[in-house]
This record gives sequence, structure tokens and C-alpha cells, in this order.
Amino acid sequence: MGQIELKGVTKSFGDVQVIPPLDLHIGEGEFVVFVGPSGCGKSTLLRLIAGLEDVSGGHIEIDGKDATDLPPAKRSLAMVFQSYALYPHMSVRKNIAFPLKMAKADQATIDAKIENAARILNLSDYLHRRPGQLSGGQRQRVAIGRAIVREPAAFLFDEPLSNLDAALRVNMRLEISELHQKLKTTMVYVTHDQVEAMTMADKIVVLHAGVIEQVGSPLELYRSPRNKFVAGFIGSPK
Ligand code: ADP
Ligand code: MG
Repeated sequence: MGQIELKGVTKSFGDVQVIPPLDLHIGEGEFVVFVGPSGCGKSTLLRLIAGLEDVSGGHIEIDGKDATDLPPAKRSLAMVFQSYALYPHMSVRKNIAFPLKMAKADQATIDAKIENAARILNLSDYLHRRPGQLSGGQRQRVAIGRAIVREPAAFLFDEPLSNLDAALRVNMRLEISELHQKLKTTMVYVTHDQVEAMTMADKIVVLHAGVIEQVGSPLELYRSPRNKFVAGFIGSPK
């Protein structure tokens, strides 16, 4: 579960092609980080995988099945946004329950899944609170909780920590890495932060103007950057 294949995927907005034909394999259970400067196409690529944007060309396969034309809800992927996108008038419990209610799950299942997600994310004592009564880090955990209860084949994160202060960012990095170790679910994580990429990724995808410059483990990119752009971005000598 959670294998994603991009085959000749392209994306244009009007006359502007922001993603030239691109192939990428994301393996089951991998923690893959898309890294690159602002405007290089990271969010677009993630949104194409999520189905929030239509591809202009090519195919996307999820677990061996063509998902190119599937709506987001049918892709069994869960997106975690940087803006949290929580409902301010609902309790933490109701926010986490929301996707399960939409899917018409029964109450016992909903309760069990919420308890489980709250335990994993250390939110058990906060379920009655509203998002406005939580810290930034807690709000981010609620957003992740809402993704966890759906038991997706993969989690998609778009710069989830960019609104947090530096100390909290380091904490949340560790928490998300721990979550990956616990769940062993595929995670695709977008960031413009090299440190985040180097510390969290199994596999880094370096993007530059919609083009993949290099794919490899943090160590591979550090030791053998393919070009000056990768070297400069990763911060290794070349
Ligand atoms: P990143 O997430 O790496 O900062 P984006 O994927 O948001 O980059 O953007 C890649 C390019 O596509 C940018 O040039 C951006 O202006 C353009 N772009 C993104 N979304 C749209 C859109 N909805 N309409 C037009 N251009 C867009
Ligand atoms: Mg972006």
C-alpha cells in the first residue's frame, strides 16, 4: 500500500508549462521529500498526486491502479496543509471525526479511531477544546489526526511546519518522523527547507523549475550531487 507512480506527468497553467514531462517512483512506506526553491512546482506536484489539480498529460498510478482521473476522495491519500484548515467552531474531537462522519462511519468506529489517533499524537487531553484554544503545534497535530483516522495509503504534507517558530519546528519534525516510524505509511513531504529534507527523508527529490534535478538518499545527494544546483541547495561541496 502507498506506492505512487508518476509517468510522463505534465502540468500547464494556460500557456505556461510548470511541470515538463516527469517520471517518479514513490515506494511503499517511503518518506519522500520534495525540496526546491519557492515557485519550483513542489505544491503543484503534490496537488497533482492528491487529485486537487488535473494533470495536463501523463498518468498517475496508486498501488498499481490508474488514478489519473480519480477525484481526491477516491485516491486514499490524506493531505495535511500548512494552514491546518481546521473548523474553528468545532471541538478537536469533532474536527478529527469530520472525515469519518462524511464517510458515514458508525459511532463506535469513530470513537475508537479518535482515541487511537489522539493517543498517537498526544492529544487525548485536548479533545474537548476548540482550535483557537490550542498552540500552533497542537493545531498541526489535530490536522494530522484528521488524516490518520482515514487510514490513508499515503500522507501528503505541504510545508506543514512553515507557520511554526523555529523551536517548535524542530519538535514537530521529530514528531512527524516518529509518526512515520509508528505507522510505516508512505509520506510525501514538501518543503523549501534543506535541513528538514536532510533530516526527515528516506528519499529526496530535488526540484528546479518543475524539473527533477536529482533523486536520492540524503547521504547520496550530499556525497554525490549531480550538479551545482543540487550541491548548492543541499549545501555540500562541489
Ligand atoms: P512551490 O510550491 O514550489 O513554491 P508551486 O507549485 O506553488 O511552487 O508553483 C509552481 C509554479 O506554478 C509557479 O510559477 C506558480 O506561479 C505557478 N502556479 C501554481 N499554481 C498556479 C495556478 N493555479 N495558476 C497559475 N499558475 C500557477
Ligand atoms: Mg508551495
